[in-house]
Amino acid sequence: MNCIDFTTTPLNEIYGSNCFSDSEMRTRLPKSIYKEVKKVQDGTEALTLEVAEVVAAAMKDWAIEKGATHYTHWFQPLTGLTAEKHDSFISPLSDGKVMLEFSGKELIKGEPDASSFPSGGLRATFEARGYTAWDTTSPAFIREDDSGVTLCIPTAFVSYNGEALDKKVPLLRSMDALNREALRVLKVLGVDAGKVTPTIGPEQEYFLVKEDLFDKRSDLMLTGRTVFGAMSAKGQEMDDHYFGSIKEAAASFMKELNYELWKLGISAKTQHNEVAPNQFEIAPIFDSANVATDRNQLVMASIEKVAKRHGLKALLHEKPFAGVNGSGKHNNWSMSTDTGLNLLEPGDSPEDNANFLLFLVAVIKAVDEYSPLLRASASNSGNDHRLGANEAPPAIISIFLGDQLESILDALSEGKTVKTESGQTLEIGVTSIPSLPKDLTDRNRTSPFAFTGNKFEFRMVPSSLSISGPNVAINTAVAEVLSEFADRLEKASDLKAEIASIVKETYKAHKRVVFNGNGYSDEWVGEAEKRGLPNIKSTIEAIPLKAEMSSVELFSKHGVFSKEELESRVEIYLEAYSMQINVEAKIMVEMAEKQIYAAASRFSKSLSETILKTKEALTSFDTSAYEKTLTKLSENINGLMTKTEELKALIAKAGDEEDVAKAASMFRNEVFAKMGEVRVYGDTLEEIIPRDEWPFPTYEDLLFRL
Ligand code: ADP
Ligand code: MG
Repeated sequence: MNCIDFTTTPLNEIYGSNCFSDSEMRTRLPKSIYKEVKKVQDGTEALTLEVAEVVAAAMKDWAIEKGATHYTHWFQPLTGLTAEKHDSFISPLSDGKVMLEFSGKELIKGEPDASSFPSGGLRATFEARGYTAWDTTSPAFIREDDSGVTLCIPTAFVSYNGEALDKKVPLLRSMDALNREALRVLKVLGVDAGKVTPTIGPEQEYFLVKEDLFDKRSDLMLTGRTVFGAMSAKGQEMDDHYFGSIKEAAASFMKELNYELWKLGISAKTQHNEVAPNQFEIAPIFDSANVATDRNQLVMASIEKVAKRHGLKALLHEKPFAGVNGSGKHNNWSMSTDTGLNLLEPGDSPEDNANFLLFLVAVIKAVDEYSPLLRASASNSGNDHRLGANEAPPAIISIFLGDQLESILDALSEGKTVKTESGQTLEIGVTSIPSLPKDLTDRNRTSPFAFTGNKFEFRMVPSSLSISGPNVAINTAVAEVLSEFADRLEKASDLKAEIASIVKETYKAHKRVVFNGNGYSDEWVGEAEKRGLPNIKSTIEAIPLKAEMSSVELFSKHGVFSKEELESRVEIYLEAYSMQINVEAKIMVEMAEKQIYAAASRFSKSLSETILKTKEALTSFDTSAYEKTLTKLSENINGLMTKTEELKALIAKAGDEEDVAKAASMFRNEVFAKMGEVRVYGDTLEEIIPRDEWPFPTYEDLLFRL
């Protein structure tokens, strides 16, 4: 694996070789069947068993040529992980031989045992029937690992009654909604398009640590983050890791990661060191929302798999280490037509720019009006360490437009004159707006929702989370605003004038969400409050917003979520929150009692003996330095053990609470808060106890070795 050689097998042969891509389908399927599949993908026709039979046979042949022995329906339950149920192609014959089979029915539908996945009350356990259905719009792929070679078929996971039990179904529904409403607008505008697709380019951040060190830390192993750890002498303050030269071990890992992803047809593009030590990023080229979401799951899985082969461990957690930056995903979002038009790309003609401004203000309104939903979609326990914690985006959602675009919109909405480059007075749809710089240089990294020239970048997304949820929220919110615009435009007698009024009115009403300044500053918190922008501080406050009246109205109007589906998600995500904090807290107790206390008392014993022996040997010797250390040590041991006892009581109390929301709030406000107190003592002890007696690898080991 380490001798990837692109001279023996050129990259163009490797690229996409494990992906049952469109071109693979075109070569392997009879023309008529291929055309049928395209119609199914476009949503204009339903899939027939006949077509599925032919596709299944072609897929099977392709997979078996690649060495596959099994196939699996690959899906994304609400645990946020991916799940699969394996079946082999083998069908025994009476003469002792086998036939390799894969039918259309097996391609279309699977019945995994649904009872083991969270459903939040949607599917009574006695009727644990759920099924997986082939998603024709996301390509099947081959996975190679120690368990062998498997054909993976991306599927949606629904209950017997058709309720969404996964992350894919709502995403597909939200894409439909956006398509429907955007097409209505485009039709009135006279723009030729048959389909509008949200496009996503997710940039994925992660840490790498040495596996042998990782294995010595039960907090990292079981929770993905360190619950103890004193900051090393050197942190990220030197900023020398960012875009620095990539360490050999990481470089060789990345080479293989790229190779694995390229085989899957995933165009991994950039690779560089992030702000924190041993932190990295990978960004594939954008895809349709659905494909990008599936592929981001594959990227995360591949990062973990390849890291292991290199004796490394990948940390996808949002905040593995206190005191250095955490990880997120930058969710780049835009809309494009099947005719190749990016709806957020400023054009050259006056008409193009009127249209651009219309879609731009649609996003501005959507973000302002539904910011609590966006915030909720980016919440998990890990992200609570980042948002609003003076790093990465603040918890307040605002939009960065860049000075030039902001001043244009400001002037237009105030009815003031704006001069174009040629000296004309700018009017929407009459003159073209001055060409916009792509703002690459003064990109505001503190903005949670930044316009970056021809797309928006939602920077709040947690690194370990599926990007489905955030994109469901953006797609649906924008679909709603576009449907309001379409209602007006369809009735307008003077189209140009109506577009101009919509742009002006919308911007005026929602410009409060536009902020180009420093999102990390304290002034912004006050300013945002004055503007009436919500500041939702934590997961437990954010998640329940998904099932508020306004959310239910929005999502049910567009057919994305029913009330029951929303309520089930609130329950599942709050439970997941409590479970995560519960495990973190229990690990903390264990490490405090079994490792730190043990090491501290050993050191305390040896110090005491040293003091006694020294006094015996040298009666006049001043042992105050030893005594000072011993005092500090004893104080912190007492503190640690007292706080740990308190933590244990709080864990038990929260664990007994049956109400999901109350339990989550106890885990946040009591258990999690107490963990902070325990940690102070543990980290102080780490500073006192000799390095070679400390029971687990330190931040210095984890952050600076690779
Ligand atoms: P950075 O934000 O680090 O400067 P880039 O600007 O190169 O990185 O792009 C970030 C991501 O945005 C990439 O994954 C890229 O494919 C994606 N992207 C570019 N155009 C679009 C688009 N129209 N829609 C969605 N994502 C896009
Ligand atoms: Mg970026």
